[in-house]
Amino acid sequence: MGADSIGQLFDDGLQLTWLPDELLFSLASRYHVLSHNVQASQTCKQLFGNSRQGCAHDFPSRVDCFVDRTRGGFGDSEEVIRRHTILPFYLPFQSAGSGALAVSALRGPSVGSLKFQLGLLTSRFRAHHPLKACLECMRDDRVNFSVAYWHRAHQLPGVWICLTHHSPLHESTLKSTGVGRFSWLMPHESQLRPTWPVGAPGEDRRLSALKLLAEAATAITNMPAYAQVEQDRLLSTYRRGLREMNLLRGNPGRLALAQLAASYLSFVQPLTCIAEFSSLPKTLTEALAQVPRLVRMDCNATHPVRHLTLMVWIFSGWKKFWDEYCSKTDDLRRPERDSPEFLNEPQSATTDARRSALLALLSTGNWSLSGAARHIGVDPTTAMAWAAQVGISTPRRAKTLKPELFNRLVEMLADGTGTGEVAKKLDISATSVIKILRTQVGLHQAWKDARYDRARTRARNAWERVVTENPRLGVKAVRTLESSAYAWLYRHDRSWLVQQVSLLQQASPGNHAKTNWDQRDVALAASIQKAALDIANEQVSKTVTLWKIYQRLPELKSKLNQLDRLPLSKLALELGTRKSGNSD
Ligand SMILES: [Zn+2]
Repeated sequence: MGADSIGQLFDDGLQLTWLPDELLFSLASRYHVLSHNVQASQTCKQLFGNSRQGCAHDFPSRVDCFVDRTRGGFGDSEEVIRRHTILPFYLPFQSAGSGALAVSALRGPSVGSLKFQLGLLTSRFRAHHPLKACLECMRDDRVNFSVAYWHRAHQLPGVWICLTHHSPLHESTLKSTGVGRFSWLMPHESQLRPTWPVGAPGEDRRLSALKLLAEAATAITNMPAYAQVEQDRLLSTYRRGLREMNLLRGNPGRLALAQLAASYLSFVQPLTCIAEFSSLPKTLTEALAQVPRLVRMDCNATHPVRHLTLMVWIFSGWKKFWDEYCSKTDDLRRPERDSPEFLNEPQSATTDARRSALLALLSTGNWSLSGAARHIGVDPTTAMAWAAQVGISTPRRAKTLKPELFNRLVEMLADGTGTGEVAKKLDISATSVIKILRTQVGLHQAWKDARYDRARTRARNAWERVVTENPRLGVKAVRTLESSAYAWLYRHDRSWLVQQVSLLQQASPGNHAKTNWDQRDVALAASIQKAALDIANEQVSKTVTLWKIYQRLPELKSKLNQLDRLPLSKLALELGTRKSGNSD
């Protein structure tokens, strides 16, 4: 069958219609089976006009092409995207401008950097969406429709329970794991695994929390097109809820941080055995660290799944949250926004018609920034600033970088890779890398955060390695051995360092004696280094041997059988004798 005969195939009587709540990927996979295509790429080409683009199970691209090739038999592009992909889950948290851009990305030739634009690559939540299925739904679907298929409601982020059967969802071992990334597949028991270990503690609390989360995720996804969760209103709703829980007290309002952290922790802790929720706090310390961030939250920076947990934790479920959110409209009334022309923008700027016009053009996804700026009659710098204010990143010049390369670049930067290394690995100029780092909304901050995380991990690991390898070392010695890690931690991660230091002090019995040993060790090591250096300088071609060092440091001999307690001195001896040995 030729690549263009898909319409013909349907005309010839191929019976394929949407099953209830079916994912686009599921319909295409069923088509793959019915068409008897051997290669996944054949099916992709027939349905999406490309051998690979279109086969993603979460954010498929080329939906316009799909609608065209199926002659609109499955609905128009908006309908397909809004009812049969998971994108609508994310849209209410986006500004209207970036929401419209996201929809047009799915309609167009490639989703490009959509995951980055939605904030998925820069949050601590996972950026991939595993395929999920309910074993009982599969059984029922086989009876009712002769096939087990992928339900969209099960694929939504934050959903790990089937709301029909109240049973845990199983996770596919394919597609999002990178195995069979470009293939079509239907759910089958042999390729599904339980999501969390059997017998993980807190099962009852986990199941009831998961039910609330699934209800909230479903409600958000089913919100009307272009509906938005407004940041100010969301925050004030949370605060009213916290007041009711007596976790926000007084006026203007002081948070009871410890109680807040404990309450949030007890809600989310049973969830953390599920990979998607692993960045939620597992201990009170982590909860305390995250709570201030929650209080300062803003819609753009907080991952929707984190919002889900807050909504259902504070209000014990979606309905009460939503009632509260919708109440008190008078003091928060904002202009209706029922189409992309009415963009989410600061009140002060709404009078600027040119700004609205520019954003409306950009939201179609068909205009470059410079083209739109020219069309409206503003200079490109102003246009860029307006776009960045509403979170629309400056469209890059498509000719410069291919989408795959651009995505790879953004991923590497979001992961904190150095600009030089990125340029070298991708074989592009460092100037281009830096330009993208500066012009993509949020990327620079994400890059800085990731680099900070890397540096912290490196410093903490270095410290812990020395402590583990030398359990008898005191603070001062560890500090000397890892002076640069110590300096970094002292400057950037003081509370962790203080904690480690106090652990070290508690762990070593006889602190006073220990300190004396440390001081002796540091002094002796310095003398050994000096002696070794002097000897080497005096007799360039000769080996520095132990006995030559004894000669200069008679007190060393008596310490030789105690070197275990003098790790720095031991190291200085090894280095001193090895160094000049090598240079011979
Ligand atoms: Zn089910």
